[in-house]
Amino acid sequence: MMQFVSTRGQSPAITLSAALRAGLAPDGGLYVPAESPHFTLADFDGVDDLADVATRLLTPFFADDALLPALPGICQRAFDFPIVLKPLKGVSVLELMHGPTAAFKDFGARFLAECLSALMPNDAAQPLTIVVATSGDTGGAVAAAFAGRVQFRVLILYPKDKVSKRQETQLTCWPDNVTALRVAGTFDDCQRIAKALLNDPQGAHLSSANSISLGRVLPQMSYYAWAAVQHARQSATPLQLVIPSGNLGNALAAIWTRQLGLPIGEIQLACNANATLSDFFNGEDYRARPSVETLASAMDVGAPSNFERLQWLIPNIDALRQTVRCTSVDDREIERQIVRVKAEFGEIICPHTATGFAVAERLVGEWTVVATADPAKFESIVEPLLGEAVPIPRALAALIDQPTKVLDVNADLSAVRAQLR
Ligand SMILES: *Cc1c(COP(=O)(O)O)cnc(C)c1O
Repeated sequence: MMQFVSTRGQSPAITLSAALRAGLAPDGGLYVPAESPHFTLADFDGVDDLADVATRLLTPFFADDALLPALPGICQRAFDFPIVLKPLKGVSVLELMHGPTAAFKDFGARFLAECLSALMPNDAAQPLTIVVATSGDTGGAVAAAFAGRVQFRVLILYPKDKVSKRQETQLTCWPDNVTALRVAGTFDDCQRIAKALLNDPQGAHLSSANSISLGRVLPQMSYYAWAAVQHARQSATPLQLVIPSGNLGNALAAIWTRQLGLPIGEIQLACNANATLSDFFNGEDYRARPSVETLASAMDVGAPSNFERLQWLIPNIDALRQTVRCTSVDDREIERQIVRVKAEFGEIICPHTATGFAVAERLVGEWTVVATADPAKFESIVEPLLGEAVPIPRALAALIDQPTKVLDVNADLSAVRAQLR
């Protein structure tokens, strides 16, 4: 049976189901699998669909867990939207934004919702409250994934005036089991308050849906495995990735997938002006810092929460620095890339994906840029640069006209706790 342990080593090993339910470990660490399974390409012979790749990849992590029999159904229902590996001229794009809320967060959020639903009876005496701090996209994806599931309440914390208008609609347009709190502060404030709620001994009926949750990182490995398998069938060289990064959940999934034996070559992280990771990977001491606002707001993170998992995975600091390369990109460059990519490839990209294209432009060889969100979520940035309207994907269009509700709160724990009751 696969056991899950805390990155801080001070909590007992537990089952997958328990780790999914818990969110954070009691010692404040993040759950990680105690052992690493190993795959070869041949393990995926005859497997094509994302849901089938996911089932094959995740089966060893679910070994002997109560959820194992449910895994194929969980993957089928969670990953029921397209994933696209699209070649352009000299570069490819892995499009992860075709889910219901038009960002890659849908993969993790939907998988987590399916797993927790399988674990939580419909008639539970007390609903489980999912607390989620969001810089814009996570909250929408989690709300969409849990909306209408009566055994859950969702509490979303998002920073006032720091998410796009359409993102805000996606955070506030849900039925009664979802509550959106607009916090007079930054994303870091939201994350701090969410962590404090989860660490509270009275928080027994709380869980997390941030990328600290194992239930989000595990499924994100599926699309990298899928892309690596697809790529290997067409090319003699391994898939090389550029990944726009903030809290490091997405890139961690790629690094992990490579460690499991899937054919992934070099990985490059693209960050915005929040340079915590780029400074570290370029040789400075790791130094978390307050976040700064950029055009790629979903990546405005000064203390990337999954760095702790990466350090656990690769404890030697020199080896860790060799694992990936990392580059910071400023807002001017983000704007330039949005214009360049439209002119050169005819593609409209979001500001986050633009950081990836900025890095790819400087590289030689064959690279795949991970597209993390649909540009229509960030139309107020993209449309003035291109001088044209960005087409709205159907799922997003369906949400935009919904009525919304939101509660304004100050950036302190007691104000938020009052809303929990
Ligand atoms: C969350 C997000 C990112 C950053 O992903 P991490 O897993 O936090 O590194 C990048 N782009 C978009 C659009 C996002 O929503």
